[in-house]
Amino acid sequence: MILVVGGAGYIGSHLVKELIKTKEVVVLDNLSTGHRLSVDKRAVFVEGDLGNLEVLEEVFTKYSIEAVMHFAAYSLVGESVTVPLKYYQNNVASTLTLLEAMVKHNVKKFIFSSTAATYGIPSVEVITEDTKTNPINPYGHSKLMIEQILSDFADAYGLKYVTFRYFNAAGAHETAEVGEKHNPETHLIPLVLQHLLGRREQVAIFGTDYNTPDGTCIRDYIHVTDLANAHILGLEALLEGKVSTATYNLGNSLGFSVKEIIETCEKVTGIKANIVLSDRREGDPAQLVASAEKIFNELGWKAKYQLEEIIQSALNWHKSESF
Ligand code: UDP
Repeated sequence: MILVVGGAGYIGSHLVKELIKTKEVVVLDNLSTGHRLSVDKRAVFVEGDLGNLEVLEEVFTKYSIEAVMHFAAYSLVGESVTVPLKYYQNNVASTLTLLEAMVKHNVKKFIFSSTAATYGIPSVEVITEDTKTNPINPYGHSKLMIEQILSDFADAYGLKYVTFRYFNAAGAHETAEVGEKHNPETHLIPLVLQHLLGRREQVAIFGTDYNTPDGTCIRDYIHVTDLANAHILGLEALLEGKVSTATYNLGNSLGFSVKEIIETCEKVTGIKANIVLSDRREGDPAQLVASAEKIFNELGWKAKYQLEEIIQSALNWHKSESF
């Protein structure tokens, strides 16, 4: 059985939908930001916190867990700057408790969701896994700390792990049964689509004076199902012993500016946006674009979905949002 911590969240719930096709899954989630209804019905669901050793004891005792996949983190750059305690408490301290329980129960395989925010303001246009890490916000720091802990646990306890550094996850499952639903929503694509669907008055561009061709921030958007499939390949590689400690970027290797994202949303919906130009948001680097060559070379993974398909799938979800 595979334990998916944070399986009710945006990325975790999409992963579970794919993983459940081949594996038995138990989801642990405290539902602080996730949704019970987004957990696939075929998965066992345990409501609880990953920082609660008693709950973890119960899960590891009751189920025979082969590997743990960990998606339960706070992930808002801006919030991490104003409330760092929350980020270090959950993303670092609680994750350490999860790892402690794994060591105790001799569960040695771990998949970890990390982030492009570990690179900070990269010195290169396209980021490889060897690009120097240097986070500029508590969110990025919290993830990099766990990366270090994993490396130390590998040396000391024989932990085997795959860390994925996500670029910008977006889009929704092809069934539109699950999708991106944060409260409050802060992510660009859902905000733009909600606006174009008439649920928000306008859309703000945070910063138009960045050192990029059109002055707005450039990001690498990756479909959440592509992310999920990369995790499944990583898990298989761990279970088959092909990989023992690996870190991979997960992105499409293409950068789009905030303006380009808004234009593509307008194109996909056929509706014009009402745009306001705002100040920069704290903690945002000008450009984050991944090289995903390493995972292609080692695991054969490549993103399948391009930007318009990502936005179309997100639109389908927002039109039919069922919870
Ligand atoms: N952004 C924006 N307006 C918004 C939300 C986001 O201009 O209402 C920008 C944000 O500053 C960043 C990019 O869009 O440059 C992507 O932001 P998002 O929050 O989606 O993801 P992040 O890159 O922070 O993980």
